[in-house]
Amino acid sequence: MGSVQIVTTILAAGITAVAVWLAVRAVLKMTAVIRLGQPAPERFSDKGARTKTMLVETAGHTRMLKWGVVGAAHWFVMVGFIVLSLLVLEAYFEVVTPTGGLPIIGHWTIFGLATEVITVLGLVGILVLMAIRLRNRPTRPGGRSRFTGSTMWQGYFVEWIVLLVLIFGLLIRGFKVATDHFEYPLWATPVSHAVGAVLPDWSDGASVAALIKIAISMTWLIVISLNVTMGVAWHRFLAFPNIFFKREPAKPAGSGLGALRPMTSQGKPLDFEEADPEKDQFGVAHVEQFSWKGLLDFSTCTECGRCQSQCPAWNTGKPLSPKLLVLSLRDHAYAKAPYLLAGGGKDLTGEEKATAAQLAHLDVLSLAEGDKPLIGDAESGGVIDPDVLWSCTTCGACVEQCPVDIEHVDHIVDMRRYQVLIESSFPSEAGVMLRNLENKGNPWGAPQNTREDWTKGLDFEVPRVGEVDDFEYLFWVGCAGAFEDRAKKTTRAVATLLNEAGVTFAILGEGETCSGDPARRIGNEFVFQMLAQQNVETLNEAFEGREKAKRKIVATCPHCFNTLGNEYGQLGGEFEVVHHTQLLAHLVSTGKLTPVQPVDGGVTYHDPCYLGRHNRVFAAPREVLGDAIAGEIAEMPRNSERSFCCGAGGARMWMEEKIGKRINVDRVEEAMATGAKTVAVGCPFCSTMLSDGVNGKGAGEQVEVIDVATVLLRSVKPEQPQGGKETAPVAG
Ligand code: SF4
Ligand code: SF4
Repeated sequence: MGSVQIVTTILAAGITAVAVWLAVRAVLKMTAVIRLGQPAPERFSDKGARTKTMLVETAGHTRMLKWGVVGAAHWFVMVGFIVLSLLVLEAYFEVVTPTGGLPIIGHWTIFGLATEVITVLGLVGILVLMAIRLRNRPTRPGGRSRFTGSTMWQGYFVEWIVLLVLIFGLLIRGFKVATDHFEYPLWATPVSHAVGAVLPDWSDGASVAALIKIAISMTWLIVISLNVTMGVAWHRFLAFPNIFFKREPAKPAGSGLGALRPMTSQGKPLDFEEADPEKDQFGVAHVEQFSWKGLLDFSTCTECGRCQSQCPAWNTGKPLSPKLLVLSLRDHAYAKAPYLLAGGGKDLTGEEKATAAQLAHLDVLSLAEGDKPLIGDAESGGVIDPDVLWSCTTCGACVEQCPVDIEHVDHIVDMRRYQVLIESSFPSEAGVMLRNLENKGNPWGAPQNTREDWTKGLDFEVPRVGEVDDFEYLFWVGCAGAFEDRAKKTTRAVATLLNEAGVTFAILGEGETCSGDPARRIGNEFVFQMLAQQNVETLNEAFEGREKAKRKIVATCPHCFNTLGNEYGQLGGEFEVVHHTQLLAHLVSTGKLTPVQPVDGGVTYHDPCYLGRHNRVFAAPREVLGDAIAGEIAEMPRNSERSFCCGAGGARMWMEEKIGKRINVDRVEEAMATGAKTVAVGCPFCSTMLSDGVNGKGAGEQVEVIDVATVLLRSVKPEQPQGGKETAPVAG
């Protein structure tokens, strides 16, 4: 060993020891913070499916690749990080001797070739990612950036480290070539040979370059260890467990979509018949009341801003960004952690748990963080502003986009649950809707005995369950379908088409009440359970004696479709629920319905969030339209998985939209830009919101918003009267 190698070896060992010590400390700290969360035993189920999904999502980059170029570039960088870690290890042999290499595989040509290819592709990948970050920097003139609010220096730091590590990897090889100590042939490592051709014949070059490479790598480790909230770096490790422990491992995308998590206390679902707010946790009032998986979610956020770029609230100037929400919760959790780990925190009655002695050694900042309300405006020092919390439409675009499977909607609704159930703090206008649900069983407060009014004027009988013994489908009409005039047209259209196709169906009539979706999404789990239990009982009775496959329900409202199909199982109601567009597509494809006159004038289709993203029904409505219209669907730029919300989900239908641009107007402008005369929808709320948007733009005479079923009916029965203009019922 020469004198240069003695120095390089000592320096490499020294910096590595410091980095490893700091990294171990950081991992212990992070683990301690995550363990502060509540239990989530269900996350340990089905380990086989979890492992498979984690491998598919990470190795296949299935979610990242939705953003083609970024996904591909990131894949090369990820593979580079994993495989080229071996070359960092090899550098420890090279600081000892410039001709050193990894034992055994370090002499295989195939290893030389593989690492050469990955180095080059990694270089291309990181340069692409750097260019994308620069092009989208928040400070660039004009336009909104998905990186707004991200900690930009951390992103640049990580990218430069990757770039430098790759460059120094090539320099080490180049010096070996230049000194004639490189074992791999030219055909396998042409870039290394090219670098070597321009480097001097310096015998210690490889050792010095290896030391610099180790120093760069360890600097990265030291910096991220001193910044445990640096998700842009830590996600390299945390993404694996975060994906493994996602809510529903079998779901290909958006495991946090569809059903909401039941309300839990100490990891157990809460039963409102026995629940006691002084003993049980009602929603989330403090950051440590999220489950440990929630805290892992917050720690894993890469700050990539994909969620933010798709969020309808953020895109219309509201204060909510799912990314900034997650970052606020993360920063608060880590800042509050010393106080919590010292034994601090509030019990369920709001009393401090720690003694004065336990908190005596804490610094003032940790104590102050412990005192911050989780939800509160700037004046009260709240972590999340109420305007942020109530701007969410639960559209799920954030969950759908997140490459590391963060479950934003669950976290938002958990915080809403505490605000509604314990604090009674929510936008006051939604109070009318909740009172109507409790007293009248529908959000509008319409009299229950008018639930069947939509059947008036039909030229066939609509049977009720109990009046007919044998029906194939129970037609779940929904509150909008029964009381809201635009939606009633859809209900009549669907009933007419089912009758035309010879499908036997029956309705519950006055036996139906609201599915509970708006109550659940606003956070009133108590009212949700009350309504849902009543409906589950009614439906179980209606289907008595039938196996699950024959307990078939067709719903026109995607919110009912989602709640009945995905959430009633949590309360003992197992049904086969289809959306009417799915059933209609089946009836057309099997020849039971025959479109005869194509609807012309151009048709665009708006994907309802709870049909599309939450339940992945994208094709059926398009198939129906494809058969019923002249020409192709004029798709909007934001369609299918990336569809833009109408603004009504998450009980926003019953809240005023006071901040920023109206979401429905934004969507209507996009729809109208297609030039289509018909905007087809598959949801009564979308229908209301988009119709209002069209009317607000003064385009009511030129553009019509109608349900897919109405489009089909016009094509199947062109002579059928379509009814005149109708108005929405007055909220009671
Ligand atoms: S669910 Fe939709 S509105 Fe809510 S934060 Fe996510 S993207 Fe934004
Ligand atoms: S998409 Fe996921 S990882 Fe990216 S900023 Fe949003 S929450 Fe974080």
